[in-house]
Amino acid sequence: MKKTLLFLLLSISAFAQIDKVEPPFWYAGMHNPELQIMFYGKNIAQYEASVSNNVVIKNVVKTENPNYIFVTIDTKNVPASDLVFSFKNKNKVAFTKKYALKERRANSAQRQSFDSSDMMYLIMPDRFANGNPNNDSDKSTTEKANRSLPGGRHGGDIEGITKNLDYLEELGVTALWSTPLCEDNDKGYSYHGYGQSDLYRIDPRYGTNEEYLKLSAEMKKRDMKLIKDYVTNHWGAEHWMFKDLPSYDWFHQFPGYAQSNYRMTTQFDTNASAIDAKYCMDGWFVPSMPDLNQSNPLVLNYITQNAIWWIEYADLDGFRVDTYSYNDKVGIAKWTKAITDEYPYFNIVGEVWMHDQAQMSYWQKDSPISAIQSYNSHCPSVMDFTLHDAFGNVFNEDKEGWNDGMIKVYDNFTNDFLYANTNNLLIFAENHDTGRFNQNYKNDIQKYTMAMALLATVRGIPQLYYGSEIGMAGDKGKGDADIRQDFPGGWAGDKNNAFTKSGRTEKQNKFFDVTAKLFQWRKNKDVVHTGKMTHYIPEQNVYVYFRHNDKETVMVVMNNSAEAKTIKTNRFQENIKAFTSGKDVLSGKSVDLKNEISLDGKSVLVLELK
Ligand code: CA
Repeated sequence: MKKTLLFLLLSISAFAQIDKVEPPFWYAGMHNPELQIMFYGKNIAQYEASVSNNVVIKNVVKTENPNYIFVTIDTKNVPASDLVFSFKNKNKVAFTKKYALKERRANSAQRQSFDSSDMMYLIMPDRFANGNPNNDSDKSTTEKANRSLPGGRHGGDIEGITKNLDYLEELGVTALWSTPLCEDNDKGYSYHGYGQSDLYRIDPRYGTNEEYLKLSAEMKKRDMKLIKDYVTNHWGAEHWMFKDLPSYDWFHQFPGYAQSNYRMTTQFDTNASAIDAKYCMDGWFVPSMPDLNQSNPLVLNYITQNAIWWIEYADLDGFRVDTYSYNDKVGIAKWTKAITDEYPYFNIVGEVWMHDQAQMSYWQKDSPISAIQSYNSHCPSVMDFTLHDAFGNVFNEDKEGWNDGMIKVYDNFTNDFLYANTNNLLIFAENHDTGRFNQNYKNDIQKYTMAMALLATVRGIPQLYYGSEIGMAGDKGKGDADIRQDFPGGWAGDKNNAFTKSGRTEKQNKFFDVTAKLFQWRKNKDVVHTGKMTHYIPEQNVYVYFRHNDKETVMVVMNNSAEAKTIKTNRFQENIKAFTSGKDVLSGKSVDLKNEISLDGKSVLVLELK
């Protein structure tokens, strides 16, 4: 008898535990009052859940795995408070769990976000600055720091970013996009963070959740915006849920692994075969990244709530969404809409790596192209990859041809009519997945200056990639690690400290100064943020365009030819109007507009017209 009782007690206590609750807490007064809480514990599905404070349970979902239970509650009119969930077995409460509904920040729902007035700086945190050498390795994660491995963990962290905000401010940065910071417990190559293993935890090698909040708060003080890199398409194979699947269809399985064909055109190609479309969307990016099934409502809810949780918790100012166009397109549209319903001014930029403007436009909110197929992704911003393509080689094309030279850049903007919102395109010369600009152009400061002038003055949200502003190069042909080298000065003992003017070499200061000059100038130039663009067909490899509004006109003259050029100004009279001179932002010199403008080979004028 005694033995049986003891066994019963032991078995109940063994069962009576909750290992995970996600989201770990929530907020009162959200626009969408429904909250689906996932409780995870051994055989938890055999218990009956109830909740305190007269809160209504709308439904309970169980899956084929008894270790999960999904409880949806209605939080409408429930004040911030601690709720208590009870789990009963045969009408007896076996165990309970406290659950906090917290107060939201003031005006949280009305939060503003990044836009075309910003300059976005992209960093890979592992490679930027090691603010805390004590967290380089951690007991709870497998891969240990090894700076001698190009693809290893180098020790950069959140504290390294926080400590160098002065540097970013000096450069003219107003928004920071960091590659993912949540836990990625892959055995190797985990530094990029795209194989996440815990979506509610900052990777301990980057710091703590509290340190991330501190970074966000420090940035707010400086009027800078924090953008989280969100991955909806896949998790890492080390994710704890992948090791104990809630349901077979949580991930796409074939069964097991099948690789994506990466042909994103199959998402809208009316001639595509069903199997090709399926392998694009449902195939895995790589074997270590299981592909999430966004058409499973539990999965969709999980990633939607996680995204909203981070916005509210870390006071975020935007998302960059990885591999946006690989997702189940109906699922990702629901995810994006749910977030923007909650935060109407929140900006989200989707990575849509395509080489055709109509195809990129397809993924932007209210696109006239996707409207043809009655699809709306609801994603406010996409990346201007065709402009990036032009950046790749245009400045080496000294001679104008029908398709060579500045005509490439000009042509990119001739297709702007395809987009729903050109001011909300992310424009960039490079990022962490592409070749580095300074590698392609052998650190030519004139070509760099032309590229930065272009980024600072055409429509869209300019994005810079860390290190280029000091002339950093790196060869994509040698692998990703080479384009993701450590920023000099980020590690104790670095001989070259590029974070300060006195620490930078003369060459580094040249790159830095021209970048800072352009982007500091751009900060308050509404005419560049939202003004109309008028451009003229390039002649002799010289591209002339204007940004103008009721108050101001900026004229850009870009000579991509190797020789000096003189252009007659009468051709531009519809924009020059009564202006008689222009002040060059870069040199500070005044340029007379009456008859002609002369400029050196491979040079640019950014003129504020007077
Ligand atoms: Ca560190």
